[in-house]
Amino acid sequence: RHRPVAVLGLGAMGRALAGALLAAGHPTTVWNRSPERSAALAGAGADVAGSAAEAVAAGELVVVCLLDDDVTRRVLERAAPALAGRTVVNLTNGTPAQAHRLAEWVTARGARYVDGGIMAVPFMIGQPGAFVLYSGAEDAFLDWRDTLEAFGDVHWLGADPGRAAVHDLALLAAMYGMFGGFLHATAMVRAAGTPVGRFAPMVTGWLTAMLGELPAMAAAVDSGEHDADGSSLRMQAASFGNLLAACRDLGVDAGLMRPVRDLLDEAVARGHGEEGLSALVGLLHDDVGRP
Ligand code: NDP
Repeated sequence: RHRPVAVLGLGAMGRALAGALLAAGHPTTVWNRSPERSAALAGAGADVAGSAAEAVAAGELVVVCLLDDDVTRRVLERAAPALAGRTVVNLTNGTPAQAHRLAEWVTARGARYVDGGIMAVPFMIGQPGAFVLYSGAEDAFLDWRDTLEAFGDVHWLGADPGRAAVHDLALLAAMYGMFGGFLHATAMVRAAGTPVGRFAPMVTGWLTAMLGELPAMAAAVDSGEHDADGSSLRMQAASFGNLLAACRDLGVDAGLMRPVRDLLDEAVARGHGEEGLSALVGLLHDDVGRP
């Protein structure tokens, strides 16, 4: 019942993925450039391959989780003769263009290609809260869906192999925006002499409340109706200067915040002052494709 699988790449993430496949009962073959990283998995029952080609030959499903696209391409090239008939699920972080190129290359070697984006850190793999985005060869995805659920909830994004990467990178942008905001806020509070630990519940409560705004903002982007809802861009642009002035006084670098000020000022200058924050999306990307 459990078909054999292979994992190429035993970094922090690859080890977690291989562990989840083993725990789900799959005969699992692993390969890594530095062989010492396979020791714990071997102890847990994994077969250790001497080459990537050997691992690919052993697994009907080949999960790839290497540093980047360049490494992935070089490793798969060495395993190319073994690829025919396999399903390659590439969970290495990459761009949509890289996914398209690799999908074409893998498909030309007689294998099916699914690209994926892991929305979790290694310790979350197989735990509640982890999810993985997939796109590419739908028949291959459906064939292996139950197995892939060992990593976390699955989100299928369609046949375009680049879709998973777009959504993955967009979610990372949202994450870095949040962490960037938190780090800046923390620097301000620390510069003012407050223990950051005491500030943590406050910033968590505030961000949680603001998260509630996202569905309405998303709907506004789709409809083009950017109601200010009591917080106009004009008002926000006027008070943003205080944030930058206070940072100057505190000796805190405002580099993460200045682009937001510039965007607010530009929106007001272009006549969007009475609209809400969602209107800024139109400045970041012209609405050429909007219905
Ligand atoms: P690591 O740095 O821990 O592992 C990198 C892997 O790539 C190792 O297996 C390493 O082998 C291999 N590698 C690097 N260079 C080469 C090379 N020239 N030839 C062959 N193999 C090479 O990274 P992670 O495991 O954390 O991440 C792997 C992928 O997963 C990345 O694309 C990352 O963006 C993505 N990811 C990671 C997350 C995380 O939180 N860790 C979260 C979501 C996605 P060796 O052991 O020999 O160095």
